[in-house]
Amino acid sequence: MAAMLPSAVFGQQHQQIIQLVEAHSEHFSVVSQTIWGYAELGYHEEKSSALLRRELETTGFRVQAPVADEPTAFVATYGQGQPVIGILGEFDALPGLSQAATPDREPVVANAPGHGCGHNLLGSGAALAAVALKEYMERNHVAGTLRYYGTPAEEGGDGKVYMLRAGLFHDVDVVLQWHPASSNSVSNGGMLAMNNAKFLFHGVAAHAAMAPERGRSALDAVMLMGSGIEFLREHIPSNSRIHYIITNGGAAPNVVPDTAELYLYARNPSLPVLSEVWNRILKIGQGAALMTETTLEVKDAGGTANIRPNDPLAKVAQRNLEEAGGFRYTADEKHFAEELQKSLPAGSAGDLDSTALIQPLRRPDPNAPAASSDVGDVSWNVPTIGFETATFVPGVVAHTWQAAASAGMSIGQKGMILAAKALATTGADLFSDRQLIADAKADFRRQLEGRTYASVIPAGQTPPLNYRSK
Ligand SMILES: [Zn+2]
Ligand SMILES: [Zn+2]
Repeated sequence: MAAMLPSAVFGQQHQQIIQLVEAHSEHFSVVSQTIWGYAELGYHEEKSSALLRRELETTGFRVQAPVADEPTAFVATYGQGQPVIGILGEFDALPGLSQAATPDREPVVANAPGHGCGHNLLGSGAALAAVALKEYMERNHVAGTLRYYGTPAEEGGDGKVYMLRAGLFHDVDVVLQWHPASSNSVSNGGMLAMNNAKFLFHGVAAHAAMAPERGRSALDAVMLMGSGIEFLREHIPSNSRIHYIITNGGAAPNVVPDTAELYLYARNPSLPVLSEVWNRILKIGQGAALMTETTLEVKDAGGTANIRPNDPLAKVAQRNLEEAGGFRYTADEKHFAEELQKSLPAGSAGDLDSTALIQPLRRPDPNAPAASSDVGDVSWNVPTIGFETATFVPGVVAHTWQAAASAGMSIGQKGMILAAKALATTGADLFSDRQLIADAKADFRRQLEGRTYASVIPAGQTPPLNYRSK
């Protein structure tokens, strides 16, 4: 068992992998730059997905595409047999965040999509790790299966949930993932479970002045549902989040609206707690329909789980991230970063030297503000561990033009290369240490504590390929 090998041998193996990552890093920086330029929205990442598939195919991966009824989803496989290690890649952009790689707000195309979450780096960095790890396996005759999962539409399209349902993760032992950030750390769990849906009420139209008694207002139902939600807030765990918009409020004040719609997200750090809150939200919708003699249609349900931690994997990931080490900016990059930080709110600019540091290993605070990701759903099905690296200038938060600017230049690429090193060395450890995989699986079962995974997305619902335009 490789766990018995002296650490010097581990050191040599990691050294070889890190050199392989470095050898391919310039090439994959160009790949990330190309995808940054494509900036395609979820389920429409045709060019980005094709480029990554081509990169993996030419280096010897077998590519299966499309998968899971998602035109831009794919699985690239190298090797065979046990164990099976997966690496997740994303490549979708966000609407409205088109931005040049400059420290001032400067859209490339006004209102066009941009890589404000750095998924151009995410998909390319994961591919860089996969290619380096594959070459390492080849050279050292390492047995097992390495898979790159090309996962579309992370930003609201729940791409991975449908890939899970298609059985694409059923035989995977461990999944590795990473996400762009503004510091270097292991992400051992975190994010919020999220459910969302559109609440469409159907009523009866009537003249609002001449015959209001004949009307049954769908807008009244929307307003009452909103009021019910506001009263609910007092009686749910305070680390919940509920936010909504009115996507249809009627057509004219003098017509009683026969349709109206509320689009709502609810979140909580715990998937089981969220599902209790969600059931109460559904009752409020039904109550609003009862009060107004309208009918309720819940449609376009979507949702993602929180990310489950895995302590044995986190320990190894932390060691490998520390071994790969942080990085420093060149004089030009420092100048870029200082200029960019001038656009941040007062007091929020981070220390530029912090990119050289690796943050200590800690579990995320369940009460801290967080977003949501469909990586969570994967982590409820397969032991999963992740990294964050400083691809964004310290102080910059994802989903901003400043993040898109950082993701399109060398600062973002330095973070991407660090993530690839940490992913690839952790992957190599998993291939050589069966005990680590066994420990990860035991911890996975222990931490589930009998809870089960269930997505709010109805069985049989197909991927919402045009969710951005609905
Ligand atoms: Zn995002
Ligand atoms: Zn993201």
